[in-house]
Amino acid sequence: MTATIIDGKAVAAELRAEIASRVAALAFQPGLAVVLVGDNPASTVYVRNKDRAAAAAGIAARTIRLPADTAEAALLATIAALNADPAIDGILVQLPLPPQIRPRAVIEAIDPEKDVDGFHPLNVGRLHEGHPHLVPCTPLGVMRLLAHAKVPIRGAQAIVLGRSSIVGKPMAALLINADATVTVAHSRTRNLAAECRRADLVVAAVGRPELVRGDWIADGATVIDVGINRTAEGKLVGDCATAECAASASAITPVPGGVGPMTIACLLANTLTAALARRGLEPA
Ligand code: NAD
Repeated sequence: MTATIIDGKAVAAELRAEIASRVAALAFQPGLAVVLVGDNPASTVYVRNKDRAAAAAGIAARTIRLPADTAEAALLATIAALNADPAIDGILVQLPLPPQIRPRAVIEAIDPEKDVDGFHPLNVGRLHEGHPHLVPCTPLGVMRLLAHAKVPIRGAQAIVLGRSSIVGKPMAALLINADATVTVAHSRTRNLAAECRRADLVVAAVGRPELVRGDWIADGATVIDVGINRTAEGKLVGDCATAECAASASAITPVPGGVGPMTIACLLANTLTAALARRGLEPA
């Protein structure tokens, strides 16, 4: 079987256009605040991309840059001001944070109704309870890709590789909510290859270049590659050996151009969701 390539770039562009047209029809402009502490080069690029994507969708984007030696209390004060600001619907604090700042203290300080990353314990609880409100952007993007590619989820055997709070755990919760039978594998899982071979759907979010090999994939399975890794030669690769896996899979996401573009599009979707919910309007 030769796999269909799921074009995340195209699906993300469609979603962004849809959000832009919904935003244009609103009587108000949603606002997104992105807070960057320090000057980590990758974070700086992410923040710039988020800012541009928000502006392109008609969302008022405000980037707040704080020095690397910002005290935790000062960041918490910035968040409190954004929580109280009626023009701001979404607050995102770019991770990782410098060592003097506890990420959990920051995540818990964000108003859960403005928590567009979906990391606040209240939103995590809502998701795991089966009543999601604001859901982490990357797994939300994966669900949209699966819907777009018409991948059957109900009753499917799914495996999520990785158990982070940003990708693996919320991904597993979304798949459980969608009636899949879900295995969550991680660095201590024994016989990962055999676990994967049982799956109709493999979602890899591990951060290990091309860990998942072709003979791990059952005939006709769907492979979603969340990983973004740079090889020693500077090439961008996923967590799956794409060409090998595509030989058995029925559908697969490429890296780049698969899950990556969906993450920012879903941040915009979450900002719109938050903006509507805060005003008691119907969800987008
Ligand atoms: P993380 O480091 O927080 O978590 C990695 C997880 O993988 C852990 O739960 C660990 O137990 C598991 N793991 C590590 N080695 C393993 C192994 N050999 N076998 C099985 N499991 C193993 O990473 P994360 O934040 O969840 O990100 C995972 C990957 O996804 C990274 O490559 C990251 O760059 C990428 N990512 C992409 C996007 C996107 O927009 N596409 C967003 C977030 C993360």
